Amino acid sequence: MPVTYEELQQQLLQKEVELKSQLEDVQSSVREEGVGYSNHMADAGSEVFEQARDVSLARTLKRSFEDVTRALNKFEDGTYGLCESCGTVIELARLEALPSARYCMRCQTRLEGKR
Ligand SMILES: [Zn+2]
Repeated sequence: MPVTYEELQQQLLQKEVELKSQLEDVQSSVREEGVGYSNHMADAGSEVFEQARDVSLARTLKRSFEDVTRALNKFEDGTYGLCESCGTVIELARLEALPSARYCMRCQTRLEGKR
């Protein structure tokens, strides 16, 4: 049975909660390690490395969280499942794999090609 928009919305809502708590975890650990850095200069190298890793993880999580929030907002607007670039209906299989997809496969490929 094909997935429905309602199911995708449920998945996104769940994802939003997960990402929010992961993001809070990472952000609090970034803050704690920031304090540790000034107190333990001997370990500075590895701590800086870990902190950089957390910062980049936080950035990735934040981006996913924003994608999910944006997708959820589109349910409100009634534009969910439409490509943001060309307005075509995004393939259901693609949404199932990536519920927060913003573009149809064709536009995604084109946009990635530009980068
Ligand atoms: Zn498109």
